[in-house]
Amino acid sequence: MLKEKRLEKYIERRIDERDRMKRREKAEKVELIVDRKQVDFWCKTCKREYRSIGRSRKGINNTQWYVSRCVCGKYNIRRMYSTDPYLYLSKMLRRERVNSYYDTIDPTHEMFDIFYGGEKRL
Ligand SMILES: [Zn+2]
Repeated sequence: MLKEKRLEKYIERRIDERDRMKRREKAEKVELIVDRKQVDFWCKTCKREYRSIGRSRKGINNTQWYVSRCVCGKYNIRRMYSTDPYLYLSKMLRRERVNSYYDTIDPTHEMFDIFYGGEKRL
């Protein structure tokens, strides 16, 4: 009788321990995926841009990047710092850069007449 009770208690304790371990493992997995966010990606194999929900990961030294899968099956990465290859591969960003360049030209610029109809406001 006494032995049986002891055995029951032992089994209960083991089950509790196992559940606690499972819960801890789950919490660690959740921590791996830090953030979900809509990010623009560039696919090298399709050579096109697409917007998708990227899952963010955190690495050593708090570096952060987003991972997403293209329609072709390739995984693409967006790095969240200035050396991100997307910044010079993206055609959309390049277009924006060019537009903002011509927005800020001054009247002495050779292209000024073409953009502003020859009106030189001086
Ligand atoms: Zn692709």
